[in-house]
Amino acid sequence: MKTSIATVSISGTLDAKLRAIAAAGFDGAEIFENDLLSTHLSAREIAALMAELGLACTMFQPFRDLEGLPDANRVRAFDRLERKFDVMAELGADLLLVCSSCSPQALGDRERLVADLAEAGDRAAARGMRVGYEALAWGRHVNDHREAWALVRDADHPALGLVLDSFHSLARGIPSSSIGDIRADKLFLVQVCDAPLLDMDYLGWSRHFRCMPGQGELPLDDWAEAIRRIGYDGHWSLEIFNDRFRAGSASGIALDGLRSLRLLEGGITRAVSTSGCLPEKARPTGVEFIEFAASPAEAVTLGTMLRALGFRPTARHRSKEVIRWQHGTINLVINCEPEGLAHSFDVVHGASVCAIGLTLEDVPGALSRADALRIARFNQAVGPDEWPIPSVRGVGGSLLYLVDAATREAMWTHEFPHMLEPMGPATLSGIDHIAQTMQFEEFLSWQLFYVSLLAMTKTPQLEIADPMGLVQSQAVETADGAVRFTLNGSLASQSLSSRFIQNYFGAGVQHIAFSCPDIFAAVDAAIAAGIERLEIPRNYYDDLEARWGLAPDLIEAMASRDILYDRDGEAEYFQFYTRAFARRVFFELVQRRDYAGYGAANAPIRLAAQARHKPEILD
Ligand code: MG
Ligand code: MG
Repeated sequence: MKTSIATVSISGTLDAKLRAIAAAGFDGAEIFENDLLSTHLSAREIAALMAELGLACTMFQPFRDLEGLPDANRVRAFDRLERKFDVMAELGADLLLVCSSCSPQALGDRERLVADLAEAGDRAAARGMRVGYEALAWGRHVNDHREAWALVRDADHPALGLVLDSFHSLARGIPSSSIGDIRADKLFLVQVCDAPLLDMDYLGWSRHFRCMPGQGELPLDDWAEAIRRIGYDGHWSLEIFNDRFRAGSASGIALDGLRSLRLLEGGITRAVSTSGCLPEKARPTGVEFIEFAASPAEAVTLGTMLRALGFRPTARHRSKEVIRWQHGTINLVINCEPEGLAHSFDVVHGASVCAIGLTLEDVPGALSRADALRIARFNQAVGPDEWPIPSVRGVGGSLLYLVDAATREAMWTHEFPHMLEPMGPATLSGIDHIAQTMQFEEFLSWQLFYVSLLAMTKTPQLEIADPMGLVQSQAVETADGAVRFTLNGSLASQSLSSRFIQNYFGAGVQHIAFSCPDIFAAVDAAIAAGIERLEIPRNYYDDLEARWGLAPDLIEAMASRDILYDRDGEAEYFQFYTRAFARRVFFELVQRRDYAGYGAANAPIRLAAQARHKPEILD
């Protein structure tokens, strides 16, 4: 796949954008006219910079309101076109994007439209250039790629072709099978973006909600397949209008862009790449461990909390200040090493999760997929007799370890030979989900990280009301629920998510939810062992009773233990929250009865309860 991105997609000055685009590994870039107008460099200097960076200029854009105008306006429109060709000659661009007209003066007369497009072809050809015609979803007379293609075909000019844009076609629900009618040699450029499914006007939707392939909900796999099937071999160019991306770092967004095109090439929703261009998505089978970085003093406090949750320190690392804590099948690791990544993490963030280990069946395959997606590996110094576990950089600079499912037991035995206490009785059965909190701007980036590397899918985005503002939340999960992450991002500076980021100095794990077969028994055991719980107001239980008609003794059983409840049809969900450790991380116990969600309805209750403890949880 030849890759390209429109300069409008990222932030910065034009030269900085081009450098970021080249550094991310794109083959070309579309120059957006406004970026050229606002740069201090001349068009010739931009052309020289692109040549130096090895970037093809895939298109100059946009040109608006050309076709179908009454005679008086028509002359002026074609004069404007000639001026654009002058700029393009300096820029070394040979393809101009002509968007279907939105002018209130434009006439829909078909013969006139065909004649105008043929004239544009003539003018372009005279300058050694080409024109690509794109149907805007909100075009006045032409707003469907089938109609745009019919006009291009009938104008039948070698310098006139079609530009397909996934947004304009898929937002209008145009069947991708119609792409089969388009001739590949007349398809001059393919522009691609994703978007969440929203019920709003096309223009606002397009201007503010476009996102990278894999971050939204458009059926891009079928669309891309239809384009490949006609034999198109030109550039695939990202064209993303999104305020969040323009607020983010140019290099990070450009790298996400390249990653998203690689994901599209291999199939966003397909586990196995159809074109053989990308190794298969890695399939995590579980969370092998969660590692905390802590100072020795913090490790004592964290240990007290873990002990109340039924964990025991079972073994010490062969050579490092690292303890393995176990409860049933759950492994936590507390790292108090005075140097290395965990120590740096503790210094920057305070005691917190510095790594997550996922169990995989094909670790080498996962690493080669990470390489292909340009996800950075992390190499930490390994002692002479230490078990090497490969890792990549995850959220907030933490690590995502890739643990080989076949040798996991051998790894534990080798790394933690010094036995401490035996395990206690198991009331928890596993890690249900890990909640990570991040800047609003990073939210889509981390979502893409998970779904592009791993065989995980995302749930629809939810907005959750925090007492201090809105929080956006979305989960990525494996089909069997063995691994689930919930991602939270907030724009409101005083929401709990935002205060977490400010206090924590970056994105990270905010809570860990353990599953249990009997939440009442698990909570009783934890309370008896001294866990500090998040108190839920009585009003909540009165409302539960009214809403679901639950038996009074069940309501009492939940109220006396501060257990929250949610329901989806017949499926039920029970949740219990601890108070926060070190004002940062808290734990949740959950019991699912065929329930697939995360208790979003209870999130405002939980957030409000935590806000009451604000001085203790987060300053
Ligand atoms: Mg477009
Ligand atoms: Mg949760």
